[in-house]
Amino acid sequence: MINASLKQLSQALAGKQISSVELTQLFLERIERLNPLFNAFITVDAEKSLAAARSADARIAAGDGGLLTGIPIAQKDIFCAEGWPTTCGSKMLANFVAPYDATVIRKMERDSGLVSLGKTNMDEFAMGSSNETSFFGPVRNPWDSERVPGGSSGGSAAAVAARLAPAATGTDTGGSIRQPAALCNLTGLKPTYGVVSRYGMIAFASSLDQAGPMAASAEDCALLLNSMAGFDERDSTSLERPPEDYSRDLEQPLNGLRIGLPKEFFGPGCAAEVMAAVQLALAEYKKLGATLVDVSLPNSHLSVPAYYVIAPAEASSNLSRFDGVRYGFRAADYGNLDEMYMKTRAQGFGAEVKRRIMIGAYVLSHGYYDAYYLQAQRIRRLIANDFVEAFKHCDVIIGPTSPSTAFKLGEKAADPVQMYLSDIYTIAVNLAGLPGMSLPCGFVGGLPVGLQLIGNYFAEGQLLNVAHQYQQVSAWHQQRPAGLA
Ligand code: GLN
Repeated sequence: MINASLKQLSQALAGKQISSVELTQLFLERIERLNPLFNAFITVDAEKSLAAARSADARIAAGDGGLLTGIPIAQKDIFCAEGWPTTCGSKMLANFVAPYDATVIRKMERDSGLVSLGKTNMDEFAMGSSNETSFFGPVRNPWDSERVPGGSSGGSAAAVAARLAPAATGTDTGGSIRQPAALCNLTGLKPTYGVVSRYGMIAFASSLDQAGPMAASAEDCALLLNSMAGFDERDSTSLERPPEDYSRDLEQPLNGLRIGLPKEFFGPGCAAEVMAAVQLALAEYKKLGATLVDVSLPNSHLSVPAYYVIAPAEASSNLSRFDGVRYGFRAADYGNLDEMYMKTRAQGFGAEVKRRIMIGAYVLSHGYYDAYYLQAQRIRRLIANDFVEAFKHCDVIIGPTSPSTAFKLGEKAADPVQMYLSDIYTIAVNLAGLPGMSLPCGFVGGLPVGLQLIGNYFAEGQLLNVAHQYQQVSAWHQQRPAGLA
């Protein structure tokens, strides 16, 4: 059961081979035993999870369960979940208990009957690529505990990789689903901006943030996306579209598929061994009937600089609400209101978050707004247009997810620019609002390599199909870290 796919778990639950309570206990027992090795969870509440499992069992018994009813799942600690501590990886929210459910949580728990196993560790306010900025300590990669799991959804990635949960939620502002998926041998999907509601998901950079699934396979991700996606009137950027079955096209053959290879993703800057694994995957795709087309994303070298103006600008605005008055942490000693604000924010936020707030306030300030913020928005448009042009010549774009495999804890922590470059292949996708995926495509020195697929707007179903077909002929996604029985 520990290594079973969601479909297998669904069948086992429907066939009464196991109850949701038993399944939940199985994973809770693993979390208790193995989480100390990885620090993947910030909060576990066995009572709450088991209560949810009992009601899932009742739903199954009454015959009104869905495909996912009773399946346990880990939730990134960025989603407000009623009655659960919701910390966003920060001291600022260390004692905050959410009074309501994020739409993603409501849909997954209440509508689909998924059972939340706990809240997973993450970079503070989702700012990072290694999970080292968490107030609750770093997460360790189950493939090598001296290495990072990636970030910011590193807790979710480590939890699924170590099979402390069959699947998890993540969020992706610049790569935070895809990069940790790549570093932990998972399949992860960032949907088109607006497909999944952001209501109740703690905001980092609102024009870029999107939630999505992280699991072993594309098939699992499709089932989860069916549960997560959909119009929500409580999110003004949610898109009103007819509901879609993201599993529908999984079995489509890939004959005639045109795969675009942006020359900018295949230049120097990517580790040679990572590139070799990507090339082998492309050879598999050719065997599956795809043709490879050269394309170009000429402005992609500007994506990291543009992102590090836009994301901090939005973050500085979003994080102004953490002021010690409304909720969350408040400094203990202060003489007046100004001092209360200053001490609260000085003590409540970590170094990376403060760096972003300062950059954001600077680029939005009078006199610099035009030079930095407006300019970055113009570049954002150029980057989006590059994709429009590329998709005239291909159906999907493929390249590496991350320029390297998992790096050592501490290796990049002191050098923000090196850390920022971990997302060099993922960030443009968020700036353009496109869907993107990462899927396992091999190993280098025992560490997983991720293959990135980028689709046109609303092509989630197609991306999942393209990933699933590869996973029918490759077994990378079935590999598990050794020694974690
Ligand atoms: N690593 C990027 C950052 O630090 C992206 C994070 C994310 O996608 N949440 O901003």
